[in-house]
Amino acid sequence: MRFKLIFFVFIFAILFMGEVTAVSQKLFIIGIEGASYDLIVSLMKEDKLPNLSKLLKDGKVLNLTSELPLVSPVTWTSFATGVNPGRHGIFGWQQCDPYTYETYIPLSSDIKEKTFWRILSEHGKKAIIINMYLTYPPEEVNGTIISGMPSPHLAAYPKSLEDELEKEGYKLEAKGYVDTPKDEFLSDLYDTTEKRARTALKLMRSEKWDLFFVLFTGIDRIQHYLWKDMEKNSKYGEEIPRYYQFIDEKIGELIGQAGDIPILIVSDHGFRRVEKRFHLNHWLIEEGYLKLKPTPKNFVKTLLLKTSTFIKKIRLNDLFLNLFKKLGKKPSETMVLNFDIDYEKTKAFTCAFYEPGIYINKRMNEDLREKLINEITQKLKKVKDPESDVPIFKEIRRSSEIYDGSFTDLSPDILLVTEKNYSAVGGFTFSGLLESNLKETGTHEYGGFMILKGLRPKSKNASLEDIATSILSFFGIKAEHSDGVPGFTPIFEK
Ligand SMILES: [Zn+2]
Repeated sequence: MRFKLIFFVFIFAILFMGEVTAVSQKLFIIGIEGASYDLIVSLMKEDKLPNLSKLLKDGKVLNLTSELPLVSPVTWTSFATGVNPGRHGIFGWQQCDPYTYETYIPLSSDIKEKTFWRILSEHGKKAIIINMYLTYPPEEVNGTIISGMPSPHLAAYPKSLEDELEKEGYKLEAKGYVDTPKDEFLSDLYDTTEKRARTALKLMRSEKWDLFFVLFTGIDRIQHYLWKDMEKNSKYGEEIPRYYQFIDEKIGELIGQAGDIPILIVSDHGFRRVEKRFHLNHWLIEEGYLKLKPTPKNFVKTLLLKTSTFIKKIRLNDLFLNLFKKLGKKPSETMVLNFDIDYEKTKAFTCAFYEPGIYINKRMNEDLREKLINEITQKLKKVKDPESDVPIFKEIRRSSEIYDGSFTDLSPDILLVTEKNYSAVGGFTFSGLLESNLKETGTHEYGGFMILKGLRPKSKNASLEDIATSILSFFGIKAEHSDGVPGFTPIFEK
């Protein structure tokens, strides 16, 4: 009898412990791309963000270093893989093979390192990943993936989910911020966000999961478009704070549904004003490093550039619409910014539009390349805005100094951080090196943050690259890169 009692107590204890372990093993992550910590703090002071305020009161905040180039596919891929671009091989929205000059839009298959959800899947854990960059085509994992940008269409794994998403009106991305009138942009942004949150809530309830990640990109988009309106307190001046409040509400709904489990909120970079943008390829032409082929096509394009209509065409919205029609074809056909560059005669070039790095032609020997890297760096340090006489670049870095990994060789040789009020683009403009009167009035600021609830941080500062290792360690998995190099020391623990 006594033996039986002990036996039952033992069984109950195991069941109970099992239950506790299962609950405490879950991790819920919300990405809020480009959220500015300063703005959050000032809105909290006005009691406008109750849910984030509560998270910060109960939790801890960590500073995050971002990534270079400071663009979303790069930052979020570092978050997803726990490695730097020299290992994961993603260097921008567009990238090129510096040996063949072939330019392409990267896809999930171009990421050279395993994502944390792939590793979790291999360990039998179930992850739900919504709207993450470079998840097209969606990987077949033990879990669910709804692809984010860049993707040619709505895509999900398992595929059966696609019909359901379509029915619910789920959108991959809100209308492009540059060429959509502000009211139309805003209503589409709210609709897209609401449906994304609703889909997340539904999957949280209907699916079994160990890790849940949903990325909201709207804060980034609205800030690109309306940053100046906010600073100038114009007609649309309240729209960014209003959208932060909306995101706060959605965070409240999601963490309410998640229950009392560990939570991470991650912003990959901050935000600031941009007044003028510097066209790098144009500068490289002026300095004699980049040569265009003397073809009739280039002649016509030059004329178009002069009237600046082409610049409009290569802005975000059209860029993606046009490119993704071609994505189903060979990567070589997804050419971007094809200006018939004469690569035989070109010494340096960029091959992306947003915040691009500079490639030094691989045709030249190492000594010459080295000399050019130094020469261009010195010249860029001296580039100033002729109107204000202030420098355009805050930092000019060599990828070989800040990256490590076998794909560093494919990265741009020179990476740039612009000074406040400026951004750098890879375009050509013959109306001057600096383009002003921009429709895009906000740009990325280096450095993000992370809020932890129910987790103990091990330092006050961290990098986006530290997160994947920490997530894996949370699930008891030791992170190791594909070449056997150990992952970072986790930055938080249970
Ligand atoms: Zn952005």
